[in-house]
Amino acid sequence: MFLTEKEKAEFAAYLRRIQEDISLAFKKPYHIPTEKCYSQYLHHGRKVWVREELKGHHREICMCMECSKFHPESRENNCLVANALYVLDMKFDLVTPVWECPDFDLKDPQIKEG
Ligand code: SF4
Repeated sequence: MFLTEKEKAEFAAYLRRIQEDISLAFKKPYHIPTEKCYSQYLHHGRKVWVREELKGHHREICMCMECSKFHPESRENNCLVANALYVLDMKFDLVTPVWECPDFDLKDPQIKEG
């Protein structure tokens, strides 16, 4: 696949934003490694692959955790997208944190809205 110079610049900017988001979530500088390290472990009884440095950090990254529409304890009152992701995750043994969402609603006014 060939990218135009504009697409390369947009992708580089996107990667920088991801690094900033993860740095905020981990509360320390994070750089997407050029050499990635993947490993396998048992998750809910199934062997899954994971990026080593991101393993177990999905809740720190996922926007749903700070969203007023997220009610995982009550599926009927939960966000439709979050419910759909849950079904997808269960069906295919995935972990899918939300990094961007058009319907996000910040529930804690103490958290900074940029
Ligand atoms: S609106 Fe977006 S951020 Fe909020 S719970 Fe739904 S998917 Fe997550």
